[in-house]
Amino acid sequence: MEFEVPENVRLMRDTVRRFIKNELEPISQQVEEEEKIPESIVQKMRDLGFFGLSIPEEYEGMGLNTLGECVLNEEFGKVNACFRSRFGTNNGIGSQGILIDGTPEQKQKYLPRIASGQWTAAFALTEPNAGSDAANIQTKAVKNGDVYLLNGLKHFITNGDVADVATVMAVTDKEKGPRGVTAFIVEKTFPGYSVGKVDRKMGVHGNNTSELVFEDCQVPAENIIGGVEGKGFVTAMKVLEKGRITIAATCVGTAQYVLDQSIAHSKQRVQFGKPISVNQAIQWMLADMAIAIYAGRQMIYHTAWCRDQKQRVTQQAAMCKVYCTEMANKAADYALQIHGGMGYMKESPIERVYRDIRLTRIFEGTSEVQRMVIARELLKD
Ligand SMILES: Cc1cc2nc3c(=O)[nH]c(=O)nc-3n(C[C@H](O)[C@H](O)[C@H](O)COP(=O)(O)OP(=O)(O)OC[C@H]3O[C@@H](n4cnc5c(N)ncnc54)[C@H](O)[C@@H]3O)c2cc1C
Repeated sequence: MEFEVPENVRLMRDTVRRFIKNELEPISQQVEEEEKIPESIVQKMRDLGFFGLSIPEEYEGMGLNTLGECVLNEEFGKVNACFRSRFGTNNGIGSQGILIDGTPEQKQKYLPRIASGQWTAAFALTEPNAGSDAANIQTKAVKNGDVYLLNGLKHFITNGDVADVATVMAVTDKEKGPRGVTAFIVEKTFPGYSVGKVDRKMGVHGNNTSELVFEDCQVPAENIIGGVEGKGFVTAMKVLEKGRITIAATCVGTAQYVLDQSIAHSKQRVQFGKPISVNQAIQWMLADMAIAIYAGRQMIYHTAWCRDQKQRVTQQAAMCKVYCTEMANKAADYALQIHGGMGYMKESPIERVYRDIRLTRIFEGTSEVQRMVIARELLKD
């Protein structure tokens, strides 16, 4: 296997590192308190191509493969998670349904706008009564001439409040279960579309989730992803599979960040007349973090490489998500312990990371759902 990071990704990684250091780090605390990323920073992220990292060059994106996207996501994991969330849906759940299963016309119409960041893209699967059991969604789509009328409520939708377009899963045939779910491309200007409640959350404060409300929302029939009814659940699962790998990569970056902070703090914090880093109890926490980060990074690189070779990675992607999210949560916990009381204070970035990282074990499939996927693969004939 070739583990060399390609030249174009290395250059992009340098740009990302500089941008994080010079532009994002300095405003991280302000964004946390104001719960809003300044529009000037969003524009800079557009200008740098962050909204189109994973979208092919023919649709005006950067054309990174999965491995390249993971390398960059690791960097984005080292700074306030809200920044990546702002453009993450454009690279992931908001665009991938169109990219993987869309018709040529749909790709041509939507992907360039998503890649440039001119439009923000969201993904609307979850409903109040259908979270882990996503096949149980209730949002209905009924054909009425040239349009479908969508009725229902989606919640916890990342970037829902700022989305210009969303991939929305709705039931077109109740009798068929998951095979009766269809994916629609819904623009915010379509009659009957509105943004509902914006959530107050535990973390990721600069980026919102919200409800999306559909009341006889008129969606042209040509906006069914791939043009065929009943394929929406499979499309959603393909989209989520890729997201599992890229979220895992972000977690490796976060774990590396808290390890680096912990090493620095343990060397300079003096108790009992010596830096706390001389204590084996502290050293073992640092060592365990480093082991797990190394393991997680290898899993991701390998899985991303396999996906880029067009191999099936259902089980591996779920393994990456469950391992790296739980690993990063544990690393944040160790880091807080090593920082002592200071780690619990708002002035320390560790306090924010400890809250932000908790989400990764829940969204895009909980740890329990990942284990279900892995076990299903293990037990199938
Ligand atoms: C900040 C945030 C952003 C999100 N962004 C999006 C988005 O952009 N688009 C979108 O569609 N959704 C989004 N979600 C929704 C997210 O994907 C769901 O919250 C998640 O899938 C879990 O569903 P739930 O919250 O309904 O929990 P539930 O399904 O109610 O699960 C509750 C608990 O029960 C466990 N559980 C459920 N069933 C089983 C089982 N069979 N066996 C064992 N344990 C089980 C779960 O693992 C969990 O621990 C987001 C959520 C959050 C919090």
